[in-house]
Amino acid sequence: MKVYFLGTGTSQGIPVIGSNHSVCLSNDSKDKRLRVSVWIHSENFSIVIDCGPDFRQQMLTSKCNYIDALLFTHEHADHTAGLDDIRPFYFKQGPIPIYAHKRVLENLEKRFDYIFVNENKYPGAPSVTQIEVKENEGFEIKNQWIEPINASHGNLQVFGYQIEGFVYLTDVKTVAVEEINKIKNCKVLVINCLREEPHHSHFNLEEALDFISLVQPNRTYLTHISHLFGFHEEIQKKLPENVFVAYDNLEILI
Ligand SMILES: [Zn+2]
Repeated sequence: MKVYFLGTGTSQGIPVIGSNHSVCLSNDSKDKRLRVSVWIHSENFSIVIDCGPDFRQQMLTSKCNYIDALLFTHEHADHTAGLDDIRPFYFKQGPIPIYAHKRVLENLEKRFDYIFVNENKYPGAPSVTQIEVKENEGFEIKNQWIEPINASHGNLQVFGYQIEGFVYLTDVKTVAVEEINKIKNCKVLVINCLREEPHHSHFNLEEALDFISLVQPNRTYLTHISHLFGFHEEIQKKLPENVFVAYDNLEILI
């Protein structure tokens, strides 16, 4: 199984439009970050987690040309705004299965009403099949078992996902002990880490490192990075062994 980091930036991406911040002006390709998303794929399945505003570009760059399922963590725009761009997949494959919390499905239905209508549907609009993800209820996609991990993004519930020892958790600020127990000693953990300064709904570096020492994964990758965190190369120097800053187009083997 391979995991391809489609995007590793926070909600505005890096560079931020019009910004003169040194990180936004960096020439290092690792300092250019699209909105967070990963593509998990093997010979048997192809799953994308979240579908932000950079989805089209991410599908072109990664050469992802088939999607068995789209999994959503939560409804914020940086994780959902690209939903219309599933059209090429829909034209080829038919309705695309989307997995999310009931609240997130309802939110998408409101914001992308033309995708969800059954009558007088515009012929070019894509269609989806909705599958509700429930707390403590794993599910299968193409014989691959997937376990939702419940967490909080400030006041908002979010889902992370565990697939064969790979755990993807983003936009997290607090995680209950029972949920941490589900992912203890996993092979690879991906966790959000916005910057060094505290934030009301995201882990900062200190919180992310504390979380990593509770989970004890073999390897960890930090994602959802803000330009305020600094240059990729500088952040990496501050991290302990087996903790890495993820970057766009990095692909890892699980
Ligand atoms: Zn986000």
